[in-house]
Amino acid sequence: MAKALMSCNLGDGQKASFWFDNWSPLGVLWDIFGNTGPCRLGIPLQSTVADVCGDFGWILPSARSRNVNVIDLRNQLLATTPPSPSRGPDCYSWGLANQKKSHISTKYTWNFFRPAQDRKYWYPAVWFKNSVPKQAFTFWIATLDRLPVRSRLASWGLNTSPLCCLCNMHDESRDHLLLHCTISEQVWFLVLHRLGLPPCSFVD
Ligand SMILES: [Zn+2]
Repeated sequence: MAKALMSCNLGDGQKASFWFDNWSPLGVLWDIFGNTGPCRLGIPLQSTVADVCGDFGWILPSARSRNVNVIDLRNQLLATTPPSPSRGPDCYSWGLANQKKSHISTKYTWNFFRPAQDRKYWYPAVWFKNSVPKQAFTFWIATLDRLPVRSRLASWGLNTSPLCCLCNMHDESRDHLLLHCTISEQVWFLVLHRLGLPPCSFVD
């Protein structure tokens, strides 16, 4: 997976591996040709890119080959500037084409590989400056409906009653426990009264 992020910017070709570094427009040539490549192209496994160049440019594979990969490589090499000491040493970069970095970034790599969803519209209500971490975490888990309420514990096969720990009459889901339970409604009534807000019902 990480190979997709590593690339080699060709300089003098002394360091870049012909077969294993991602220096050509085709990508890593070992991935294309496999272990028959060195024999078919007559280029040893340990060759650097500079080894595949002579005084007059690329030492190209046979033009008579009918193999589509060899023809592709030949055409791509012809379109690629050969390595040269005047271009300085080969250097390596990390990242995709539009975000190349000269160093490995853990943050970039993590964000590249993890599946990411759109940012939730409610996140500022959970994560804000001076929030209490424990409360923010619980609120976040509740908003995602991942609280370990009894109905979920029972659905996981735990030997526990699914009934509400407050009223013992309905299944204890997140919505029931925090909003719909008659005892929760009384708590909300008292809280809203204390805050000077009109009472409201969370029942649809
Ligand atoms: Zn209840």
